[in-house]
Amino acid sequence: MSVMWSDLTLSEAYSINQQKQQKINRSLVIRLLRREGICSRAELAAKSGLQRATITNIIKEFLDCGLVREDGLLEGSRGRRAIGLRINDSNFCVLGAMVTRTHYSLCMMGLSGHVFQINTYNIAENTTAQAVIQQMCTHIHQMMEQADGARTLAICLAMPGPYKTDEGGQMVFVTNLIGWDGVPLNSVLQREFDVPVLVENDANAAVCAHLYFRKEEANRRNMIYVVAGQGIGCGMCIDGKLVKGNTGIAGEIGHTSISYNGPRCACGNRGCLEMYCSELVLMTRLRDRMGAGEQTVLPENFDLQDVAAAVRAGDQLALEEYRHSCVLLAVGIVNLVNQINPGLVILGDSLIEIYPELMLKIVSEEVKERVRPMVWENLKITVNDLPDNPILIGACAVAAEKIFEDPIYYATNKSKC
Ligand SMILES: [Zn+2]
Repeated sequence: MSVMWSDLTLSEAYSINQQKQQKINRSLVIRLLRREGICSRAELAAKSGLQRATITNIIKEFLDCGLVREDGLLEGSRGRRAIGLRINDSNFCVLGAMVTRTHYSLCMMGLSGHVFQINTYNIAENTTAQAVIQQMCTHIHQMMEQADGARTLAICLAMPGPYKTDEGGQMVFVTNLIGWDGVPLNSVLQREFDVPVLVENDANAAVCAHLYFRKEEANRRNMIYVVAGQGIGCGMCIDGKLVKGNTGIAGEIGHTSISYNGPRCACGNRGCLEMYCSELVLMTRLRDRMGAGEQTVLPENFDLQDVAAAVRAGDQLALEEYRHSCVLLAVGIVNLVNQINPGLVILGDSLIEIYPELMLKIVSEEVKERVRPMVWENLKITVNDLPDNPILIGACAVAAEKIFEDPIYYATNKSKC
């Protein structure tokens, strides 16, 4: 319930302000601890700008509810020793999940960002969305029970491609997962678990993973994560914040046109980027050229691994088509760079993974040639280098961020949300 200021006495208003400030301070301190790994109270005060006494109080609350632990001695200023503080992963964790057409993965992560376990399960062909959700819920329950006493505080599920839910949490629009339209995903999951359940688009989750796990860089505040796989999408972070758009489906780079009179796409537009350079298009073009009798080392029923091997072996047909895909993706990225002016563009997913070094080289050359020198000089393009799947650990990061909004509340409140 929202409270009107006019309904309050001044002292009540002051107390609400104080509570709000306390919440912001706790949130700041836990985020600092997560980022730094280990910190003394004095370092936390210096980095946060908060008073030493405020830090002492917050750390006492965190220690009392088991969110942090003391860990050894740090070399303090003027040779004085100070007690180190860390986030305590043995008490609390979060769970991230991601779904693709062929499998789903679950990841258990401590609030410190430490990944404990990743399990992947295949989805049998023709399994309905309801059956997938049911199996996934069973596996999530199992994982939560096997977490060695660590309580799961939040769950986030990353969905492929843009999606939209209505007010009841029903999936009303899923672009990249056939058969999931109309599935009441949010409500089913929320009924099943006694903790906050969030759903996020995969590209957004991936960009969150880079916000969370990537070392501090000035250009990270304006960052785009391009997911180039079976479809093409992107997650955008502007001024350190995720951009979702009016209905939550921003980042549809795959449906920006690179040919105004090109073939009609299912979305309604013509000549969409996704129609020229997705993994699926690359496979089709290779199959067509093989069918026309062109020479290649590719076996008859080739898969993505075969394509990667052929490109790396310098097979002319595979290399030609892959290079072409790289150039077309670059054209789409140029459009994005000119609209958003990012400092960092990260390329990820299966089309990139065929040959990341070559993709990066071609995309960089092409973008450099097509944007203003001033834009190029302030832009870094790179390929995803996180050790775990960024969509999966990004889902964990989204769940952890939810807890960091009010860590004491979630750590001490045993009931729902
Ligand atoms: Zn389209």
